[in-house]
Amino acid sequence: MQQFFEAVRALERRLTAEAERSLPPLSLVSPERMQEQLAQGLPLLPLVPPVLPAEQYFRDLGEYRALLCGYEPALVAEMQAQERALSGADVGLLHALLFGENDVVYERAVAMGASPERLYFLGELALRPYLAVYAERLESVVNFTGYRGGRCPVCGRQAHMGRIDADNVKHLHCPACESTWRFGRVECSNCGSTSPGKLGFFTVEGDEEHRVEHCSECGHYLKVINQRIQVRQVDLLLADAATYYLDRLAEREGYRKGGRPVLA
Ligand SMILES: [Zn+2]
Ligand SMILES: [Zn+2]
Repeated sequence: MQQFFEAVRALERRLTAEAERSLPPLSLVSPERMQEQLAQGLPLLPLVPPVLPAEQYFRDLGEYRALLCGYEPALVAEMQAQERALSGADVGLLHALLFGENDVVYERAVAMGASPERLYFLGELALRPYLAVYAERLESVVNFTGYRGGRCPVCGRQAHMGRIDADNVKHLHCPACESTWRFGRVECSNCGSTSPGKLGFFTVEGDEEHRVEHCSECGHYLKVINQRIQVRQVDLLLADAATYYLDRLAEREGYRKGGRPVLA
């Protein structure tokens, strides 16, 4: 998977340049209204929605499908089925992917005979170049420094990784638009718990640089790079893929991204 994500990075360089050209200028609301949204811990995406070129987006999605097939030949048949089902510009599905309407994505995937997980996965990958351009444009006009929410202030995704800097300040990182924002050093990014009795972390022997922070209040875990151990430039997309063994360990301990599933 590491090689796959390195190839994703290479593809993104071209698609981000194309997104830069095709994404229309943002139609902003007043700075006060945007700050108000952030003060409530809410992302700006629903308030200042980007207008994505649907046809181009679905063409991009095809490029990610082809890339995935190169690394997982077993998926070729499924990817061909997805391609047939997704021909054309499916504005409704793009909207659902962009705004995280997971039940809509799930239903559409099942209806087209595709794996919902893989449709989310590829759909998010294909959104990344657009969301990166969108985030960059917002960051040039909005001040995010006071934001302390657990979800991305730009697009509302849950952080996939955190980073503790040499000065002991923690930042969270968005897996979609790649924004980073400051967050409580001892705080659960899912439920907001700050209770030291509920929050803990583990590391794997010999690798103090990576830790898994977990919360017994909600069952959420977050992988964190501890830059107090070693300061270096880290690509968090690749670091996430390189540390899947930590996800497996966290899951074995009963933790889940987004917290424990609610049992019926
Ligand atoms: Zn984001
Ligand atoms: Zn929690």
